[in-house]
Amino acid sequence: MLSPTRSRSPLASCLARSARRRQGTQADLLQQSLGACHLSTGDVFRAATRNACAPSPAMAAALDYMRRGALVPDATVWEMVRERAACLRCGGGFILDGFPRTLAQAESLKELMEQENLPLSAVVNYELPLPEIVERLSGRRTCENCKAVYHATRQPSRADGVCDRCNGRLYQREDDRSESITVRMLAYQRSTAPLIDFYRNLGLLLPVVAEGSPAQICERTLTLLESRLQKKREESADQQSISA
Ligand code: AMP
Repeated sequence: MLSPTRSRSPLASCLARSARRRQGTQADLLQQSLGACHLSTGDVFRAATRNACAPSPAMAAALDYMRRGALVPDATVWEMVRERAACLRCGGGFILDGFPRTLAQAESLKELMEQENLPLSAVVNYELPLPEIVERLSGRRTCENCKAVYHATRQPSRADGVCDRCNGRLYQREDDRSESITVRMLAYQRSTAPLIDFYRNLGLLLPVVAEGSPAQICERTLTLLESRLQKKREESADQQSISA
């Protein structure tokens, strides 16, 4: 398992494919274990919907895509990530959650990281069958006050529709409705297949089975990540001894 001290230099990026919501939970757990910076593009867009100020025209258009369960155009997403590029230089590494989602986003990210001389350790791809994803996501309930997350059957709150932590009202997010999920998953499959190939060809793809409890999945991810990093360290030591 990666300890916080060992994780100071490695950088990790998470890629959405099938298990988006689980991935958000995993990104939070990985952030805690690694002490890394966590940037979720979906969270940034959701925060903009709650912002009291009127959104910019680009952000208003982006939110419209999000409400329809469609991907926001690459240019808007990239603008938003670039504004937060300080995250990529965080001393504890970083976790990008829900980004990149398209080949164009991945290419922009690769270019920026090369310019900034930043390494990328792995791209984690959480895998889960579609019917299970729909069941899990459509059962999600979120507290409108403290954002705590429950599941209608797997992890219900004590009182129906009321948050255990703060008594806030629990609601189903628009993008957690079955229709939105299906639209979103089809868009994922179309847009992420080339991404999977892109990162596999770069030797960065780290497939992780998203079954079991969040803690088990996190442990599995850290174990796989650590063995990937160990392998890279051995390869680079071999290279150095050959060239010496
Ligand atoms: P998420 O919470 O990551 O599932 O994101 C929620 C919504 O935000 C998505 O359904 C998209 O509409 C939008 N979004 C978030 N990240 C991206 C991205 N990298 N590219 C395009 N759209 C995104």
